[in-house]
Amino acid sequence: MGLGVLRGSCYTTDVSTPITPSSPKRAPIIVCANQKGGVGKTTTVVNLAAELAHRGYKVLAVDLDPQRNLTSGIGFVPAQGAASAYDLLVRRQPAAGLAQATSIPGLSVIPGSADLAGIDIELAGDDAAGDRQLAAGLRDVGEFDVVLVDTPPSLGLVTVGALAVADAVLVPVQCEYYALEGLSQLMATIRLVRERLNPNLEINGLLLTMLDPRTKLGSDVVREVEEHFGELVYRARVPRSVRLAEAPSHGVAIRSYAPGTTGAESYAQAAEEFAARVFHVTV
Ligand code: ADP
Ligand code: MG
Repeated sequence: MGLGVLRGSCYTTDVSTPITPSSPKRAPIIVCANQKGGVGKTTTVVNLAAELAHRGYKVLAVDLDPQRNLTSGIGFVPAQGAASAYDLLVRRQPAAGLAQATSIPGLSVIPGSADLAGIDIELAGDDAAGDRQLAAGLRDVGEFDVVLVDTPPSLGLVTVGALAVADAVLVPVQCEYYALEGLSQLMATIRLVRERLNPNLEINGLLLTMLDPRTKLGSDVVREVEEHFGELVYRARVPRSVRLAEAPSHGVAIRSYAPGTTGAESYAQAAEEFAARVFHVTV
C-alpha cells in the first residue's frame, strides 16, 4: 500500500517548519473520515472533543454530516436561524464566526445542517466550489487549539473538501470482517487528495472501534489492521459498549454518561494518544 511514508502525527513543534507560512499557529484540523456508515466516526468526534475540552484544550467540533448526529450527540440545540455548516461550505464563511459555545466548557460547535444533503447537486457546475476551496473557512478558526471535523459516510464533495484543508485524517475502524476492504478505498482517496489537493495531509491514526475482544473475529481484525498499518493504529481500543450506544440519546459524552466504564476509559486513553500525536505532549 506504500504506507511507509506516512507519519502518525500531524503537527510539528519545530518552529522552522510552520504548517503554513502565513499562519504558523493555526489550530490543527483533524478530519474524522470513513466512507462506511456506523463505524464510530461521530461517537469518536463527540468523545474525543469532550475529553480534550476536559483536559483544557479549546476545541471546535464541526458537524459536516447532514444527519447532524454530532450536533445532537453533544446535546446542542441551535437557536432559530443559527449559523451552521451550510454557512461554512456553501456561503464560504470563516469558521471563527460560526462557532457556538456548548454546555461543555471549552467545547464549541459548528452545528450540522440538513440542507447539506443536497450540496453535491447545489454546487454542481459551480467553478468556485472546487474541492480545494469548499471548506477553506476551517482554516480561519480564531482562538481554538484544535478543530475536529465529523464527516458523512461517503467520499463525496463534503468529505473530500474537508480532507483538502485538513492537517490529518483520523480513521475509525469497526472491528468486523470487511474492515480492511473499506480501508483500501479510503487510503486510495487519501493518496489522491495528497496528489491533487493537499500534499500535507497526514494520517493521524486508525482507531479500532466496537471491539469484542472475546471473539476470534475481534482479535483477528485487530491483528490484521496492525499488520497493515503498524504504529498508525491507536493503542486505545474502543470496546462494543451498550453505554456508548446509549449516550447520544442523552446528548452527553460517555465521560459524563457512564464514567469509569470501559467505553469511557477507552476514549480517555484515545484522547491522550491524540494529544500526544497532535500536540506532542502527554496530558
Ligand atoms: P458513524 O458516525 O461512523 O456513522 P456512529 O458513531 O454514529 O458511526 O455509530 C453508529 C452507531 O453505533 C450509533 O448508534 C452509536 O451510538 C453506536 N456506537 C458507536 N460506537 C459504539 C461502541 N463502541 N459500542 C456500541 N455502540 C457504538
Ligand atoms: Mg456519523
